[in-house]
Amino acid sequence: MTERIVIVGGGTGGSVLANDLADRLEPELDAGDVEVILVNDGPEQVYKPVWLYVPFGQREPADGRRRLDELVDDAVDLRIDRVSDVDTDAKRLRFDDGPSMEYDYLVLATGSTLEPERIPGLAEGGHDYYSESGATELRDELLSFTEGEIVLSVVGTPHMCPAAPLEFVFMIDDWFRKRGLREDVEVTYTYPIQRVHGNPHIAEWARPIMDERGIDVETFFNAESVDPDAGTITSMEGTELGYDLLVSIPPHAGVDLIEEAGLGDDGWVDVNKHTLEAEAADDVYALGDTAATGVPNAGSVAHYQAGVVGERLASDDRGRPATATYDGKTLCFIETGMDAASFVEFDYENPPSPAPPSQKLHWSKLAYNESYWLTARGLL
Ligand SMILES: Cc1cc2nc3c(=O)[nH]c(=O)nc-3n(C[C@H](O)[C@H](O)[C@H](O)COP(=O)(O)OP(=O)(O)OC[C@H]3O[C@@H](n4cnc5c(N)ncnc54)[C@H](O)[C@@H]3O)c2cc1C
Repeated sequence: MTERIVIVGGGTGGSVLANDLADRLEPELDAGDVEVILVNDGPEQVYKPVWLYVPFGQREPADGRRRLDELVDDAVDLRIDRVSDVDTDAKRLRFDDGPSMEYDYLVLATGSTLEPERIPGLAEGGHDYYSESGATELRDELLSFTEGEIVLSVVGTPHMCPAAPLEFVFMIDDWFRKRGLREDVEVTYTYPIQRVHGNPHIAEWARPIMDERGIDVETFFNAESVDPDAGTITSMEGTELGYDLLVSIPPHAGVDLIEEAGLGDDGWVDVNKHTLEAEAADDVYALGDTAATGVPNAGSVAHYQAGVVGERLASDDRGRPATATYDGKTLCFIETGMDAASFVEFDYENPPSPAPPSQKLHWSKLAYNESYWLTARGLL
């Protein structure tokens, strides 16, 4: 009987895994012993790191989109539909449009969603660069902004790319400086805990740079509400900040069907952080943002995890013990201005130690972004 592996989500993790399996299981796929089905709720893949550059007019939103049928190996069946329900007892998926489908193995790679509506006034009063429409609207605001108070508020954690809020304030500082406008623009950064980043090593590295650049910092700032008419954001701790332009990292969650399937809270799947197997169901894996491993929600993480899940699924399929494990590996370039960046690499055992910022690392980040589409195809 043909064994069916279904991957839900054709973002970074899902597409890298689909191509990985097409490669590893080529003989079984050719023989019809296995089928790999990738389900995505749209025909295109979106590469979100491009959005960081859109507000500065350096990239177009279309640079971050490619057709999935051009990215995924022909041996993979691509189904464009939204999964509406997962029944892990019956091993069955339901869809918005098409008929239901049974699976032997299921991989959830459904990513993160934004929930600005959790904070009253945020959707109306704040801008973001964590969505394509948000980044485009922010570009329109920013290009005509020449003086006043910009507040970057990290409202919800965990969120995608924990370094991106730091990158944004470093870039905005440099962007206005290079245009001779920095003295007319105040920049304030808020973070919910007592430091400027969740990881203490990155926080310790970033804080002196912020102080040096005159970026004001408000820690212990858990946003409670935004008043768009008054132009204020207020924290649960009782601090009120005025703004002319509010940029937020909105609260994040995973997709609803995960909680409904009993796989974890807030849409994040509870997994074994080494094997990436779901705690609450057999033959279910999760990877990327969806997997609650405690490491950053980053494309590099999704990529490394896809390799582990691919190897484990191929071993299972061949009746061999699955031995591949994920060690927490995370890689991240951090822009420190418009033409300099740092770099960190860490895992469960080894903390990050940010590299001295350089132009070379900035170009490496841009090259990494450009070569992403080869990575997604499994060519790098
Ligand atoms: C501004 C910004 C900058 C970033 N910069 C970096 C960076 O420099 N480096 C880095 O490593 N990471 C970066 N990231 C984070 C990175 O983009 C994400 O962590 C990564 O995309 C996660 O991959 P994923 O496969 O888990 O999810 P995604 O890539 O989000 O893919 C999930 C897919 O699942 C689909 N889907 C969801 N629900 C369903 C359903 N019910 N049925 C069918 N399909 C569904 C979605 O449409 C989507 O295609 C950045 C993110 C942002 C927002």
